[in-house]
Amino acid sequence: MLSIIVPAYNEEENIENTCSVICGIMKENGIDFELIFVDDGSKDRTWELIDRLSRENKSVRGLKFSRNFGKEGAVFAGLKRCLGDCAVVIDCDLQHPPLLMVEMYELWKQGYQVVEAVKASRGKEGFVYKFFAKCFYGLMKSSSDIDMKGASDYKLLDRQVVDALNDLPERITFFRALSSWVGFKTAKVEFNVAPRNAGKSKWSFRKLFRFAMSNLTSFTNVPMQIVTVTGFLFFVAAIVIGIQTLVNFFTGNALEGFSTVILLILLTGSLIMIALGIIGYYISKIYEEIKCRPRYIISYDTVQRRDKEERNTVNDKN
Ligand code: UDP
Ligand code: MG
Repeated sequence: MLSIIVPAYNEEENIENTCSVICGIMKENGIDFELIFVDDGSKDRTWELIDRLSRENKSVRGLKFSRNFGKEGAVFAGLKRCLGDCAVVIDCDLQHPPLLMVEMYELWKQGYQVVEAVKASRGKEGFVYKFFAKCFYGLMKSSSDIDMKGASDYKLLDRQVVDALNDLPERITFFRALSSWVGFKTAKVEFNVAPRNAGKSKWSFRKLFRFAMSNLTSFTNVPMQIVTVTGFLFFVAAIVIGIQTLVNFFTGNALEGFSTVILLILLTGSLIMIALGIIGYYISKIYEEIKCRPRYIISYDTVQRRDKEERNTVNDKN
């Protein structure tokens, strides 16, 4: 069975349409499915509609948050509760073409455990938004080796991957990066971002900025390294200017007392920066540790397979 997880926040204009489109596609292609709407504390009629749809259609299930916890929470709530052999996460506004799910499902049947839908074109976005997205993904790639250009939350995950994600103990999550971080056999399909079906984007600039900062700091310590590197550069400059100051002092070209001030400012400035960088480094290590991320994830174990085969033969005999 395929679980389809749809986070929804103030999407009253989209719920019914999204539901009928997805159900239609699944029935047409004969895919056994469950459709899970996660209402992320909407203030409009979203939940009413989800509730009604879930009564009318047995394949539809609704989860309602007590308040707005954010899309990440909604996605992970869906992953925790889904029952399928694989799960797909898709936006409620049909910006992710739902027909692609069929192709992704086929790839899953061929043995791919993660099928990522990659944005071939980013759709209609403002210049500022595009610029920040580029900076963000650039920083992520340079520091964590996860190439996220064109990455989206539109992904199909095998049960094993869903379980691996559910087992992550950390609380600050970034679905888009974590689903790559866990590894497994991955395929990519491209799609063009469609315009939003109805309603406005649910992300304000402030919300996006906070989201980006939180994700950057949970995947990289580049911002902190900038402090250390600046400290070292400053220190090199301090030595050069220091020598010049000393030369001036000994040749008698310096003002009284001024050389000491220059030397002190340069030295303390650079040493403080280096020290901050070192402290930051330890803090980032502590942060890494308290995330308690598993050190590895095993995707295949031959002993487990043997156990399973033995169990199956016993079942056959009974
Ligand atoms: N969403 C959510 N909680 C939020 C914000 C958004 O569950 O706090 C959902 C929203 O309902 C939609 C998906 O996340 O299904 C993507 O949101 P949106 O289309 O507003 O983002 P954009 O496409 O502009 O990046
Ligand atoms: Mg959208």
